[in-house]
Amino acid sequence: MAVERTLSIIKPDATKRNLTGKIIAKFEEAGLRVVASKRIHLTPAQAGKFYEVHKDRPFFGELTEFMASEPVVVQVLEGEGAIAKNREVMGATNPADAAPGTIRAEFAESVGENSVHGSDAPETAKEEIAFFFSGLELVG
Ligand code: ADP
Ligand code: MG
Repeated sequence: MAVERTLSIIKPDATKRNLTGKIIAKFEEAGLRVVASKRIHLTPAQAGKFYEVHKDRPFFGELTEFMASEPVVVQVLEGEGAIAKNREVMGATNPADAAPGTIRAEFAESVGENSVHGSDAPETAKEEIAFFFSGLELVG
């Protein structure tokens, strides 16, 4: 399998509860490497732009408000099959459905406040990484 890069976000519910280190440890234990990272506080407009694909969903307002409520940590994870591996370590969107040991099973508070974001495909990974990072900030 090819080495890939994917965009990961540690969401406000997790930064607020000081879970950043525990979540990054899960990625590292799974063989993913953090090759870029920064802590930022999104505006609602920036959160809305990032989640534009969901703009017609009923939870869009709640989602953008939540993502702008506290700081987030945005990071690029690199590794063999990183896109799928990250999704596996994250667990299902709804923590009630997430497999034991996954980040969302252990830490998420609800389907909305679910601790992490991860890109879902190579094209979205590329776009989402470029949304937050310049090439100079990716340090493998
Ligand atoms: P994922 O983050 O697993 O890729 P989606 O892309 O479907 O999930 O949704 C993006 C984010 O929108 C979710 O991670 C979650 O924060 C929020 N969300 C999804 N479904 C709901 C819902 N039914 N109610 C509230 N928020 C939701
Ligand atoms: Mg998604």
